[in-house]
Amino acid sequence: MHQMTLAEIARGLADKKFSSEELTKVLLARITQLDPQLNSFISLTEDLAIEQAKAADARRANGESGALLGAPIAHKDLFCTQGIRTSCGSKMLDNFKAPYDATVVAKLAAAGAVTLGKTNMDEFAMGSANESSWYGAVKNPWNLEHVPGGSSGGSAAAVAARLLPAATATDTGGSIRQPAAFTNLTGLKPTYGRVSRWGMIAYASSLDQGGPLARTAEDCAILLQGMAGFDPNDSTSIDEPVPDYSASLGDSLQGLRIGVPKEYFSAGLDPRIAELIQNSIQQLQKLGAVIKEISLPNMQHAIPAYYVIAPAEASSNLSRFDGVRFGHRCENPENLIDLYKRSRGEGFGAEVQRRIMVGAYALSAGYYDAYYLKAQKIRRLVKNDFMAAFNEVDIILGPTTPNPAWKLGAKNSDPVAAYLEDVYTITANLAGLPSLSMPAGFVDGLPVGVQLLAPYFQEGRLLNVAHQYQLNTDWHTRTPTGF
Ligand code: GLN
Repeated sequence: MHQMTLAEIARGLADKKFSSEELTKVLLARITQLDPQLNSFISLTEDLAIEQAKAADARRANGESGALLGAPIAHKDLFCTQGIRTSCGSKMLDNFKAPYDATVVAKLAAAGAVTLGKTNMDEFAMGSANESSWYGAVKNPWNLEHVPGGSSGGSAAAVAARLLPAATATDTGGSIRQPAAFTNLTGLKPTYGRVSRWGMIAYASSLDQGGPLARTAEDCAILLQGMAGFDPNDSTSIDEPVPDYSASLGDSLQGLRIGVPKEYFSAGLDPRIAELIQNSIQQLQKLGAVIKEISLPNMQHAIPAYYVIAPAEASSNLSRFDGVRFGHRCENPENLIDLYKRSRGEGFGAEVQRRIMVGAYALSAGYYDAYYLKAQKIRRLVKNDFMAAFNEVDIILGPTTPNPAWKLGAKNSDPVAAYLEDVYTITANLAGLPSLSMPAGFVDGLPVGVQLLAPYFQEGRLLNVAHQYQLNTDWHTRTPTGF
């Protein structure tokens, strides 16, 4: 039962082959049995899951239908869930029970999805390895000595290990696509403003975007359908109609113009990954796509710009965790300053503290123009590069990451080495563009992802290309041994 995709579950439920309650119990038992090896969950919500599954079964018995009605999922632990711990992977929020549901959580619950639990993540979504979580590192089901990627490493490991078919995640600089690549999943970061950020604990507000992680593009279409849409509670949400993502999956790729940026194939890219990317290009050519070399000349400046902008926004967003209103509070503060200092010093881990300091420095008087303003100008240049490219091509293709998943602990002493691994993913966030990663093969037994980017609001096109690719390849069907 645990091998089923969301699409297969929807058909099985519609055909009354099993009930949501039966499926939910099987998956909860599987999580209890297998997750101790992976550490992909921070909280399990068994009682809520059974209650939601029974309610979904009752709705189906009353004649209701829907692809998500009775479908088991989990939420990255930065989506607020009413009455349930929402930790953001931090000691700071270990005692925080959200007083309301995030819009994404509420929408998926209304569609009948069943929440099995909250997944592990890098603390406040800062990281690429899921090692900065206060709840401990997550292991990659393809090789338990390797990281699953981050910051949505818990969602990725759980779905890859077939503990559940799909999960929500968020992507500020690659946190959906990079863990998807590292664990052989399909993950989509939507256009900025497509999915509501209301109730999604903020890291870098101008870059954060929620999206689906699943095994197939078909399942990402189903989950995105439930997540996307205008939300008056989010001032950056965009009032644009949501197309039927499943309806365009079958479109032909005949004549599709795919741009391949020459800058993507630089010295930093593992040659074995470069070869797999070339294979995926050939596969898409067979399906009718036309390949064109393009250039993104400002790509080299994206990492330094991102690592100024994201920490700057984080330093502002995280100032709310002061020991006064919610979250961790130190024992016996001597005065207000002591309360702030010790609550924050005890509640935040090393990577979060590092970013708050970098961000506060970049925003301070005298440095603002040199760092923050400069980074914003680079951001515009990165966006302009994409706009020029999309005058010539329909989608852009390249690797998701320069290397496969590294060993646990390998980059702990060198944070900048980890930042450099984000080179292919952060540009989409700087520009606000939709981008998808899908399985493209293996290197030393570890999965590799191919990344696609499309113009604003063309999520349907990304899902269509990925679905056609998956109809003609079987990388996405491979299962890690032991799961
Ligand atoms: N690795 C990037 C960072 O640490 C991206 C994280 C994310 O997308 N949340 O900022």
